[in-house]
Amino acid sequence: MKTVGVLNLQGAVAEHQRMLEALGVNVVLVKEAADLNSLDGLIIPGGESTAIGRLIRDYQLESPLIEFAKAGHPILGTCAGLILCSTTEKEHPSEVRLNLIDLTVVRNGFGRQVNSFETSLSVASIGDHIPAIFIRAPYIKEVATGVRVLATIDDKIVAAECNTILVTSFHPELSEDTRVLSYFLSK
Ligand code: GLN
Repeated sequence: MKTVGVLNLQGAVAEHQRMLEALGVNVVLVKEAADLNSLDGLIIPGGESTAIGRLIRDYQLESPLIEFAKAGHPILGTCAGLILCSTTEKEHPSEVRLNLIDLTVVRNGFGRQVNSFETSLSVASIGDHIPAIFIRAPYIKEVATGVRVLATIDDKIVAAECNTILVTSFHPELSEDTRVLSYFLSK
């Protein structure tokens, strides 16, 4: 049985836990570095990236999370989790960014008028008609060489991967479709 952690600081923790358990995965809610020891992979959920980032610092999780990724463990970052996995921005150097995947994001990138919406996407390697729920979501502005774009809406990138790191702007755990989570588990 696989054991997957969900970073349990703020945000959509219970929703990921529910979906992982439905897929037969043993779930560990991660709040301190020692919780990472027994894991096959980790999900950094959506929520509020500044708040989660501050808590990552408060709980001294920044280096342990980077080391966990460097050791080759798969990480899925959704929405705020995507922002946290991304590359440090020159304009906001004090915001916590784990630099796990080389891409830059635009926070709340879909604007005020369409803060939240649901659509259906084709996601490379995963499938067609994937329900995608966006909540004050970021989009990916630019990816470095080696980062694979998996899905776009117009010219906005909303899913990408590089080796063991998978990120989505949307919340796969809020739909009943398990394909994104299953793809992550296959890593
Ligand atoms: N807008 C949030 C942020 O910037 C992300 C929203 C989400 O995770 N649903 O952190």
